[in-house]
Amino acid sequence: MLLAFRVVLGLLTLQPAEPDPWGFDDVQAEETWLDILRPQALDLILLSLFIAFALVSFSRKSVRLKYITLAMAVGYMGFYKSYLISVVNIFAIVDWDWPIFRYNLAWYLFAGFTLVSTLVWGRLYCGRICAFGALTQLMDVVLPKKLRIEVPKAIERRAGWIKYGLLVAVVGYYIITRNTMVYRYVEPFWMFGLSEKMVMWFGLGTLLLATVFVRNLYCRFACPVGASLGVISAIATFRPIKRWSECKSCTICEKACEWGAIRGPQIVKSECVRCDDCERIYEDETKCVHWIVIARRPELEKRAAARARRLAASTAQTAP
Ligand code: SF4
Ligand code: SF4
Ligand code: SF4
Repeated sequence: MLLAFRVVLGLLTLQPAEPDPWGFDDVQAEETWLDILRPQALDLILLSLFIAFALVSFSRKSVRLKYITLAMAVGYMGFYKSYLISVVNIFAIVDWDWPIFRYNLAWYLFAGFTLVSTLVWGRLYCGRICAFGALTQLMDVVLPKKLRIEVPKAIERRAGWIKYGLLVAVVGYYIITRNTMVYRYVEPFWMFGLSEKMVMWFGLGTLLLATVFVRNLYCRFACPVGASLGVISAIATFRPIKRWSECKSCTICEKACEWGAIRGPQIVKSECVRCDDCERIYEDETKCVHWIVIARRPELEKRAAARARRLAASTAQTAP
């Protein structure tokens, strides 16, 4: 009876909850998109400008704009922001563990662009956006060509599989051990953070020294991220590189491709980084065999007609 009386009394005297004296509820409720965007705005604008510039350089097939893009990739994406797709991001996909969208808008823009551009054009990320790939491509331009060693085609094709093996090995290692730190031993992207032990810098120095002699060494043979983008490119590239029927017998572009991505008439999508080199030749009416044949067609037809006339005349003379 006493207990029932207390319950009734409690209900009658029940007061609404006091507002939070520290105001945490208000802060949470009042967070607007403006609050979320303000600290990320500069990042979003600079990244959007960089991506737009990279796309303009790609669509114009301009050598000058391409090298400006590569320099921006090293400076802005590499040393300033350290925005690089890493095997750590592949580990996050394995765990399905994503950063909170609203606080990481620039990262989602970057990762989204990488995925979409790979589906549309292939490894455009490797050819334009990745800071390490950009660094080695710039090295290629400034270093004397006589230092280069051409890897024999047969070795190049086999060595190209190493990166796929590394990708499987490193993801397998992560699944078993859950140790993300393994990334340091399979990719040199930490260099843009300028923080590692001396032994790691020594390893990086050796890699860069080897790159002096074998161009794009890491990208072509050892990068697990490049391998994963290569797999996506091989499965789906909606806007592949165009080819002429003459490409079946012409080897000009195959010799020009520095990535070993042209084999006979075929473009190997998993190896192609959309560097533009062969696409520039494709459009060049003074270099591409297709255009040269078209330009010389009237002259060739005239010669063939003259030859046919000469043959007909000599046949008429020798006839009984
Ligand atoms: S292969 Fe790797 S290092 Fe090279 S550009 Fe692509 S992601 Fe960057
Ligand atoms: S030069 Fe022209 S024809 Fe020859 S491989 Fe290149 S695109 Fe094809
Ligand atoms: S030369 Fe052509 S095939 Fe080779 S990597 Fe560049 S765009 Fe791709």
